Amino acid sequence: METESHEKMKVLLVDMSPISRKLIRKILSKNGYEVAEAARGEEAIQRLQAEYFHVVVTGLVLDDMSGSDLCSVIRALDLPRYTYIIALSSKSSIKDVTDAIESGADEFMNKPVITPLLLARLQLAQRIIDLEAKLKLVEMQSQDLLMKDALTEVYNRRRIQNDLPAEIKRASRYQKALSLVICDLDHFKSVNDTHGHLAGDKVLKEVAQRLKNNCRKDIDWVARYGGEEFVIVLPETQVEGALAFAENVRQVIESEPFAISSSQSIKVTMSFGAAGYREILDGNVSPEEILGQADLCLYKAKEQGRNQVCYSPCVQHGPN
Ligand code: GH3
Ligand code: MG
Ligand code: MG
Repeated sequence: METESHEKMKVLLVDMSPISRKLIRKILSKNGYEVAEAARGEEAIQRLQAEYFHVVVTGLVLDDMSGSDLCSVIRALDLPRYTYIIALSSKSSIKDVTDAIESGADEFMNKPVITPLLLARLQLAQRIIDLEAKLKLVEMQSQDLLMKDALTEVYNRRRIQNDLPAEIKRASRYQKALSLVICDLDHFKSVNDTHGHLAGDKVLKEVAQRLKNNCRKDIDWVARYGGEEFVIVLPETQVEGALAFAENVRQVIESEPFAISSSQSIKVTMSFGAAGYREILDGNVSPEEILGQADLCLYKAKEQGRNQVCYSPCVQHGPN
């Protein structure tokens, strides 16, 4: 039996009776489920922490804890996805049922299990698991959308606010370097004034792409900081590495003209400021400080004539 993402459904069978486990395992295996077994609650918890199971089918009486207690523990675990729980009991009172549901079970069934009823419950489990997976995907997509810039499709300022503090924490905890580059298009107002706002937009989109193309995939990230300003976060990179990255991008921007229509290309340049985490306070830097330091360097690059890279402590790198 497969979920919507075509994984085989994995069921963890928890029951102190080997005969009962064997019986249910037979039904499940025959119907395409992948089955694992645990005789005790603790063993079940360990297995669930080690790997993801779509469904737990548990007896309500176990050697070391009640099935209801097991349900509570499972719900308190920080599992990556939803685990559907079916509780089984041979002598079920109304209280057994309500306790199991209150503790986190999704379903309750009497023992001995009737094969078509168990299979129907598992179909229901699959529906819930697929729905949860869809919800998670939509949540991830909307989260991603919320942090993307609509024009350039790189990240926006919100990503910087959300994730730069975490990047700094990570670098501090693992004693890793972290660098940040801020760049700004030179005389961009005149691009708009001369060629129009749409041409300006095209340039911004292409700049974002060139920045992205020169980053390490899944490590560095680019965000649009404001109008024609971008920030590039470079984890595990000393400021010299950031400087090399910025100098390379500077040349890529300067040397390849930007197409603003099918027949016209224009030359554009960019100024860069780079700052490194180790280079500032060695352990106690805030996002504002590192951004501020890089911004100061950018300001310096502008002041010194644009189309160049400055880095803390403001050493100039450029064409001259
Ligand atoms: P400098 O070299 O000092 O940075 O000069 P500049 O002209 O680039 O800087 P200034 O701050 O004077 O102008 C920035 C321009 O960027 C003005 C603004 O219209 C333009 N801009 C900001 N956002 C967008 C956008 O989304 N699309 C377009 N086409 N232009 C934008
Ligand atoms: Mg500018
Ligand atoms: Mg600007």
